[in-house]
Amino acid sequence: MDLTRRDFLMLCGIGFAGIALAPIGYAKELITDHADGLKISGAKEVITVCPFCSVSCHIIAHVKDGKIVSTEGDPDYPINEGALCAKGAAMLNMVNCDHRVYKPMYRAPYSDKWEEKSWDWMFGRLAEVIKETRDATFKIKNDAGIEVNRTESIFWQGSSQMDNEECALVHQGLRGMGVVYVDHQARI
Ligand code: SF4
Repeated sequence: MDLTRRDFLMLCGIGFAGIALAPIGYAKELITDHADGLKISGAKEVITVCPFCSVSCHIIAHVKDGKIVSTEGDPDYPINEGALCAKGAAMLNMVNCDHRVYKPMYRAPYSDKWEEKSWDWMFGRLAEVIKETRDATFKIKNDAGIEVNRTESIFWQGSSQMDNEECALVHQGLRGMGVVYVDHQARI
C-alpha cells in the first residue's frame, strides 16, 4: 500500500486516539462526532499551487458544494512542507472575501463618491490618461545628452494579488512604454 506522509500521520493520530480512548469505551463515536462537526467534513481535497510567487508552494483546498471552505499548506510537498507565508495563508479570504470588488470603480477628481463603470469605459480612460502623461513627459535624452527614451512621470506599484504571469506581462508593457519606476509589494 502506498502511504503519503499525510496519510501516515492521519492514521497514527486516529490509532493513538483509539488506543487512548478505547479503555473508556467511546473512541469511535467520539472521533466520528468530532469529524462530522468540522467544516472540512465531507469535503474533497484538491491540491493546488499558490500563484503569488515563483516558490510555488502547494496548498490543499477543501471543496464542498463547489465552494472552497478551507485551505492549508500541503505537508507532503517538499518545497513548503505544509508551511505558507502570509500571502499563501490568506488564500481562502482572497477567494471568498465579501469585500472583493468585481466591477471597475471610478472616483472622479474632487469627488467623494465611487461610481461603477464598464470595463470598456475604464480601459479607455486609463489609456487616455497614460497617453497624455507619457506624451507630455517623454524624454529622449537625459541632461547629459545620453539617449534614454523614458518617462519619469508614471510609477507602477504591483500588488501581491497578481500572479507571476500577470507580473511578467505588466512588466513587458511598462518597459515598452518607457516606464522606469516600477516596484512590487510581493517581495518575500
Ligand atoms: S507567496 Fe508565499 S505561500 Fe505563495 S508560493 Fe510564494 S512563498 Fe509560497
